[in-house]
Amino acid sequence: MKFELPKLAYEANALEPAISSQTIAFHYGKHHQAYVNNLNAMVVGTPFENMGLEDIIRKSEGGIFNNAAQVWNHTFYFNCFTPGGAGEPSEDLLEAIEETWDSFENFKKEFNTAAATLFGSGWAWLVKDKDGRLSIIKESNAGTPLTKNLEPVLTFDVWEHAYYLDYQNRRADYLEALWKIIDWEAVNARY
Ligand code: MN
Repeated sequence: MKFELPKLAYEANALEPAISSQTIAFHYGKHHQAYVNNLNAMVVGTPFENMGLEDIIRKSEGGIFNNAAQVWNHTFYFNCFTPGGAGEPSEDLLEAIEETWDSFENFKKEFNTAAATLFGSGWAWLVKDKDGRLSIIKESNAGTPLTKNLEPVLTFDVWEHAYYLDYQNRRADYLEALWKIIDWEAVNARY
């Protein structure tokens, strides 16, 4: 097996009540694992067979792109969180957020709106461009900032599989809960 499911940095029940161990069991244990398995099976005999994950994402399309990008996106997503949350936005990051959205509260509102209004399955991303300018983007399905020369800083997965077991149709409640488990130390390091 070329690609492997990365280990989580926390126990399956450690993000409760924001994300239940049952959701981790399915979202990480089944969905994330399936993207890894699919990718491993699909690259055999293709030019992507010996390529790194990010190269595959930048150069592929169709099924290989979808599975490769979902492997990468989910690894990034699970690394955005830590039990009970940790730290707060760094001085630099907070300054950039306030420059762009006036206040942290307003940024949070805009991020939640982007995530709540994404139609169907996808991702809300906080990204920075090559000049360090921040923006919020919405990506459908396996969409990822990697293909747009943007560096991801934070993401919320809004596929129904990310929240349906815990919140059913209440996507807004899931989004609100995620803010309580953000690992700001990890997020700051990416800005
Ligand atoms: Mn997902």
